[in-house]
Amino acid sequence: MYISHYDIRMFYKCPMLLYLNKHGPQEEKEIHPIIKKRHKTSPPFLSPEFIKTEIKKTSNLIKKGNDIINQKWMSYNKLSTKIDKLKKINENSIFGPYAYEPIFTRGNIPLRKPLVMEGVFTAYICSKFQDIDLNYFILQREKERERFVFSEELDTLFSDLPRIKKILEDDIDISPDYTRGCRVCEWRIYCRNLAKETADLTLISGIGKRIKKELREIGITDVKELAEADITKISNDFTSKKELTYFKLQAKAIVEKKDIIRKKVVFPKSKIELFVDIEGSSHHNFIWIIGCFIRIEDSVEYRSFLANSPKEEKEMIISFYKFLSELEDEFIIYHFSSAEPQYFKQLTEKYNLQAINLSNVLKNSFDLFPIFKENIILPLYSYTLKEVANWLGFQWHDPLSDGATSIVLFDKWYIEKNKKALQKAISYNSDDCRALIIIKDYLIKNLSDY
Ligand code: SF4
Repeated sequence: MYISHYDIRMFYKCPMLLYLNKHGPQEEKEIHPIIKKRHKTSPPFLSPEFIKTEIKKTSNLIKKGNDIINQKWMSYNKLSTKIDKLKKINENSIFGPYAYEPIFTRGNIPLRKPLVMEGVFTAYICSKFQDIDLNYFILQREKERERFVFSEELDTLFSDLPRIKKILEDDIDISPDYTRGCRVCEWRIYCRNLAKETADLTLISGIGKRIKKELREIGITDVKELAEADITKISNDFTSKKELTYFKLQAKAIVEKKDIIRKKVVFPKSKIELFVDIEGSSHHNFIWIIGCFIRIEDSVEYRSFLANSPKEEKEMIISFYKFLSELEDEFIIYHFSSAEPQYFKQLTEKYNLQAINLSNVLKNSFDLFPIFKENIILPLYSYTLKEVANWLGFQWHDPLSDGATSIVLFDKWYIEKNKKALQKAISYNSDDCRALIIIKDYLIKNLSDY
């Protein structure tokens, strides 16, 4: 069996990802709508015959001595890699008085560990294949080339290769660490269910691989044990006590299936409440909707301010500000992330809207998100708007939609002029805004003194 550059990249993204791509139930994969749109990759199938044929082709081209060789395979000792580009250099090799250096053409992908290790792996095979010394690979960016020289990364690779081999041979016990990176992984639902079965510590928001390891070292191996742990006995060199207190309470809320109130909140008072959710088009880099539920005592009404294209963005924010100015400073904007105030700042600066009293808008904005964890803990693994509102009993009209689906829907409108998609995206936004009302009312009921 061959280990390929693809396996290396997957392993350093997440060992479980490599395992599941190879041995997992493929029908359980759920590709994130945004990722599906951007790219599809599948692992190459490396049979010995395939490698033999490809290696022969590469050797023949190298013997010809072309300056550049594109998209060819090299192999050494059951390790195989496909190289984007090989560039001729002046160095003796087994092929003659010249050799080739490997070039990765990767647009603007940041040089993170998976790419670095794939490069190290490729450069290693490249050096053995030609019998040369090579301690670098070249990364071809859109406009520039970067030489990555490695040393200890090669030791890391050698020490990890036996584990990678075991994963590929299905000869290892492996379980997921459910971390932030899982949110856009096609295995996220499958892994989350697996983690739930074992009450894995990484399900608790904020516990990643490092803290899980630290907790395991002190004998806390799952959510139930964390809920019952006597944290006063845990030494001070552990991750901050404040964090640990939160982790324990979060575990307790999950085990006991109930919310835990930590401290009260002083909410602003206002006659007019606005529940605002803003969505951007990630592919086209503009804000396309400011959705708003307006509540004045018992009356509620939804309004949306739309930009169908980047050209309409300025008009959209001006209309929204005009609407605010008519409320004469008697409003509070409730939202559920730090993104909304940032959008107001960005758009005001972008369009130089000096007549707008931005500081008033920001002063009258109230983020509901930080209240969770700080003031109240719910029996949830994460605090997305959807998870919180669902727990409070609110259902979206389309339960399968999420923020990413909304981006895809708007793109359908923007690119294909699909009106139904736009209507769905607006309806999704109105549900988001309505969810804010449910959350705010729940918080007032449980955390406010008045
Ligand atoms: S969901 Fe997370 S743990 Fe599972 S394969 Fe993906 S990245 Fe790895």
